[in-house]
Amino acid sequence: MSNNIFTFVGKQPGPTVTIMGDVHGNEPSGVIAIAKLLPNFSIARGKVHLIIANLRAIEQNVRETDMNMNRAFKDESLFADRRQLESYERKRALEIMPYLDESEALLDIHSSSSEKSTPFSICEPHSFDIVSRLPFQIVSHGWDVIHPGGTDYYMNKKGGRGICIECGYHLDKDGPAMAENSIQAFLILMGLIDGDIPPKTPNQKIIYAHDIYHTKTNFKIARKFGDFEEIKKGEVIGVDGEIEVRALEDTVIIFARNVEGKGEAFVLAKIE
Ligand SMILES: [Zn+2]
Repeated sequence: MSNNIFTFVGKQPGPTVTIMGDVHGNEPSGVIAIAKLLPNFSIARGKVHLIIANLRAIEQNVRETDMNMNRAFKDESLFADRRQLESYERKRALEIMPYLDESEALLDIHSSSSEKSTPFSICEPHSFDIVSRLPFQIVSHGWDVIHPGGTDYYMNKKGGRGICIECGYHLDKDGPAMAENSIQAFLILMGLIDGDIPPKTPNQKIIYAHDIYHTKTNFKIARKFGDFEEIKKGEVIGVDGEIEVRALEDTVIIFARNVEGKGEAFVLAKIE
């Protein structure tokens, strides 16, 4: 172990994968699940890195300290705000990258600040075969284009499989079990541990996230939106400074929130 990165090697050869929790410091499901697994953890084949990511944010029980760590996994040239290159999150991302570089697949565990959040997964179509057997009703894709710099983006860009799971509300008591079940299924499907292949999750919905709204001044949402709520063309989503922002077509809204200053206010998506 070094720096909250725990590596396990199986007796037989096999793929290398990474499982990560707390890229955002106030999302405890992944870390609770990893901490529970650690004392008796072993794999039959390959290698796994278990990583507790945002140590400083965990200490302070905040999502992030200097920047969103889930935008820090990208090439230096893509940082519009150069100050972010000096951030704790960027430095920690640089420490984690070599582990991702040797991994074929990543399972990155998150949760949501919204109390009514529907659990869902994020990946691109080349990982649908795995997420189709994880316990999530919604599979979303398209995120690499609308917000580069996520852990999954980093994996996909280098030809691996990046999978993020959002295990509902931060304090949802089912979150850690959902994370643990997902870890187990992921390790079976990647061939690192033995076990029955989990069945396909019935009635999974595929959602394509195609647009992100970046604030111009300050954004105030018109009302609370549930993640993946369907909204109608013309509905007011919020106000950016003085300007009303409306849905331009019937759409699905994700992660709508108030933003002070420049930031990401909401994502729009389509059901496929
Ligand atoms: Zn998160």
